[in-house]
Amino acid sequence: MNLVFLGPPGSGKGTQAKRLAEKLSLPHISVGDLLRIEVQQGTVTGKNIKAIMEAGNLVPDEVTIELTRNRIIQPDCAKGFILDGFPRNVVQAEALDAMLEKENIILSKVVYFDIAKDQIVSRLSGRRSCRKCGAVYHIKFNPPKNEGICDKDGGELYQRADDEENSIRTRFDVYNNQTQVLIERYKKVKKLVTVDAGKEINQVYADLLLAIKYGN
Ligand code: ADP
Ligand code: AMP
Repeated sequence: MNLVFLGPPGSGKGTQAKRLAEKLSLPHISVGDLLRIEVQQGTVTGKNIKAIMEAGNLVPDEVTIELTRNRIIQPDCAKGFILDGFPRNVVQAEALDAMLEKENIILSKVVYFDIAKDQIVSRLSGRRSCRKCGAVYHIKFNPPKNEGICDKDGGELYQRADDEENSIRTRFDVYNNQTQVLIERYKKVKKLVTVDAGKEINQVYADLLLAIKYGN
């Protein structure tokens, strides 16, 4: 099963992808996570993209296309993958089509996480991530057992620099101006399935399983 998760920032793509990836034993490829690793490690790419990411803009297409291509050809992706946060514009969608064709990979479905704008702001401003394992929490909707500490490995929870008000606004505009058009694109080729991402986490997960026709 080869899936793409599409939706605005804060719609819960990462949360659901992690859970589904565990259930189906598939790799969760979060392009945002891959980029954050570059920044954290201080690579040349990382240095070039840090400010762009903090402001909430898209990093250059060459960077994300290359990262995605290198990741999906790894052996652990042979039985499928969940691609989260790529493609985010038409150039990337075309590049994805080309790389899938070259590797003889068929896209199973594109899951669109549909959510109202007012829910996005409260979700992103309350998001906390583990420095060690990347687990994602929410101070109100999905709190850790102990404040500021990851349930899984005791790692410190931090707030992403791009989850601050100005960046949230920019990311939402970027989504509207560049990413949203992809919904039509995948609808046309009959790959798109939609879940109501505004519901609570367990309900969205149940709907997601139904949408990809995978029983509970
Ligand atoms: P995305 O990957 O689409 O940017 P995340 O999965 O990181 O979104 O979720 C954004 C924030 O919203 C996180 O703090 C997460 O814990 C929280 N969240 C995710 N899904 C839900 C939901 N269904 N209801 C409430 N909060 C949610
Ligand atoms: P995410 O973790 O998906 O919220 O992504 C965080 C940030 O990483 C985005 O705001 C962008 O700056 C960058 N990013 C992630 N995916 C892409 C992509 N496909 N194209 C360009 N930039 C991306």
